[in-house]
Amino acid sequence: MTKKERAALAAEALRELYPDVSCSLKYSTPLEMLLATQMSAQCTDASVNRVTETLFKKYTCAEDFANADLDELQQDIRSIGLYRNKSKNIIACCQRILECYGGQVPSTMEELLTLPGTGRKTANLILGEVFGKPAVVVDTHCIRLTNRIGLVNTGVPEKIEAELKKLIPPEEQLALCHRFVFHGRAMCNARSPKCGLCPLKNFCKYYKKITKR
Ligand code: SF4
Repeated sequence: MTKKERAALAAEALRELYPDVSCSLKYSTPLEMLLATQMSAQCTDASVNRVTETLFKKYTCAEDFANADLDELQQDIRSIGLYRNKSKNIIACCQRILECYGGQVPSTMEELLTLPGTGRKTANLILGEVFGKPAVVVDTHCIRLTNRIGLVNTGVPEKIEAELKKLIPPEEQLALCHRFVFHGRAMCNARSPKCGLCPLKNFCKYYKKITKR
């Protein structure tokens, strides 16, 4: 079986298992999505949503965040992990958005990567979720699953992103990445994957390996 065939089988099985997938971060503007994604690093989406419910009423645009008092913003988001650094990045990011992009979140990978606090994972999520562009979002679930089912053989996010771009049609990339997250949480967790229940087991390399022992 080629990797493309393997990817297509995985996409089909996961589509059946999780037909409706979307990002669980709540947002109503591109800026809110960008900042919520930055805040979600090493933190659950649910806890970010609890914070942003009030935060996005207090600060409503890039200018508000760019001019925010650092101590006050830190207090506003202190219930989420790494809030000190995240606050600094939010202010710096919005200052750059104001200075370089007219107050609007830019829509290319190159531009997004110039924003403080924004790596490829965040940039891809914004490209796909906000701008409807092809996007491969490589997070911990994506890394684990794509290695286990044999689409890649590396833990390097950039290499996984490049490989998945070759294997998955552009219009399916973002949804499949969301489904990897759903499946990683529901069955394919790191320590004790529920392989017996998993529809991917017929072609999963990890399952083949553990059942051979
Ligand atoms: S068979 Fe097991 S290891 Fe493979 S994808 Fe399913 S849950 Fe994960």
